[in-house]
Amino acid sequence: MIKRRQTRQVQVGGVRVGGNAPISVQSMLTTDTRDVEGSLNEITRLAEAGCDIIRLAVPDAEASAALKEICLHSPIPVVADIHYDYRLALAAIRAGANAIRINPGNMRDEEGIREVATLARRRSVPIRVGVNSGSISKEVRNLYDGVNAQSLAYTALEACKALENYDFEDICVSAKASSPLMMIETYRMLSDHFDYPLHLGVTEAGTVNEGTIRSTIGIGSLLLDGIGDTIRVSLTADPIQEVKVGISILRSLSLRDEGVRLISCPTCGRTEVDLMNMAQELEAKLAPIKAPLTVALMGCSVNGPGEAREADVGLAGGRGFFFLFKKGDIIAKLSQKDAIPALMAEIDKLLEESEQSNGI
Ligand code: SF4
Repeated sequence: MIKRRQTRQVQVGGVRVGGNAPISVQSMLTTDTRDVEGSLNEITRLAEAGCDIIRLAVPDAEASAALKEICLHSPIPVVADIHYDYRLALAAIRAGANAIRINPGNMRDEEGIREVATLARRRSVPIRVGVNSGSISKEVRNLYDGVNAQSLAYTALEACKALENYDFEDICVSAKASSPLMMIETYRMLSDHFDYPLHLGVTEAGTVNEGTIRSTIGIGSLLLDGIGDTIRVSLTADPIQEVKVGISILRSLSLRDEGVRLISCPTCGRTEVDLMNMAQELEAKLAPIKAPLTVALMGCSVNGPGEAREADVGLAGGRGFFFLFKKGDIIAKLSQKDAIPALMAEIDKLLEESEQSNGI
């Protein structure tokens, strides 16, 4: 059981971040913000996949105008990502953004930062102070001997100070690096230094394979330390993948129980059923289910029955057939063709039973 470090809490629309709130999963839109319909479609897909908070880029006035419509119809809280121009940050708050992400270090206008802090406070809009290893100034690099955890942590603290100067402390902080080691060290330092909630991420993590590994190491290590209140896995891929990987990281550490945990074996020379294709088919069928279930799909009678018996429902293969297990008991022997439909029918029954017992 992971003991989470206590942080203060910020409220991003209907989602609490920090304190004892569940660790939320974020992603970022790949659409052009000016495309309201396209952006809302992507938000809906992401929300259905389990995304809790969505961020989108607001690079110009046209995007901030579209933001109003997007915020109005979005099913999940919206964070507006703004760089350089404080006027866009003001416009995003006025457009109804549930939070904004800025790096005060790249907003050189001091009076502008004061205005942003003042308006955000008045509207109860939290600010994510987001710095990354690419935004460390030359002075700070010189001070700390280059781009490293010290210079990145210092940059994050300075960025927080820029808002604290105006009594603004409704802050969440991110300090991402593309190196998992650097980001782990940085977040550990920050966590020792203040109690602002932390948004974890490995930036520019890469494609699905590489990015998943780097994000899992970086984010997972910190979560194991009890550090982190909200996470974003950055991948050069459909953002749905980011959400899936984020949820898997949390589920693997028992930090989220929502959704189905699929246990499937890697197959070997003993496998006499088409397990690989079945696992793909089953994963797609289980994806929309939000209830906390464990489902096993195993290839043979060596380890299969043990895992299948431990799961809520499970299939253990044999010579071209499957035993179907439910809550520890074998309830049917099935052909390969009938195995997944029968498993899904049992899952439907379990879901119905749990809805009835919850009085839904
Ligand atoms: S469960 Fe059976 S088929 Fe699957 S990897 Fe283990 S021994 Fe091989």
